[in-house]
Amino acid sequence: MHSHTVTRSDKVCQCYVRELSQLAQLELHYGAHDVRCPVYRESLDPVDRAIDECARKLYTEHLDLWPVIAAYSRAQAIEDGVLVDLMQDKMAEVARQHYKHPIACTAAVFEIMQKAVENERHGNDYAGVLHDMLWMSRCYGRGQMGQSTVRFRVKITGAGRKSLYDFKLVIGPGDDASPVITIMLPEED
Ligand SMILES: [Zn+2]
Repeated sequence: MHSHTVTRSDKVCQCYVRELSQLAQLELHYGAHDVRCPVYRESLDPVDRAIDECARKLYTEHLDLWPVIAAYSRAQAIEDGVLVDLMQDKMAEVARQHYKHPIACTAAVFEIMQKAVENERHGNDYAGVLHDMLWMSRCYGRGQMGQSTVRFRVKITGAGRKSLYDFKLVIGPGDDASPVITIMLPEED
């Protein structure tokens, strides 16, 4: 047995199934997961396939569970470290000065912030770096009114060789469908 062998159990469900009760989850085949779910695997048996198709329709189309999943995904992403919640300590104060919605950033964005802060020669702190980012997002945002994505450029010293960084700020539905903000690298989504 190789300990590093990747097995199917390493894949984490990302679809409606994880919102169901444990009992309901046990009754479903991999083929009943949403086809975009990492766990999804088409059943080989045609009868199973038909049952899976039926379950998927029942849960996803008729019960309209997707908004709940979108909200759960964000909370789960923060827990998993894929997203970093910026509504903590002094960063929360800064965030509220700029936007009325809660803000998180991707791990890649936070890594840039962290490098800047940990570089002692530049005297950065998280609140200051975040302030610069949000300030610039608002400056750029004026030209992109009414859009859910604002692309912006900000000067951050001490995070690496370059000092100008491009980001995008995305506003979308979060927990309970009220708006939340996510800061990402331009190529992330
Ligand atoms: Zn799934």
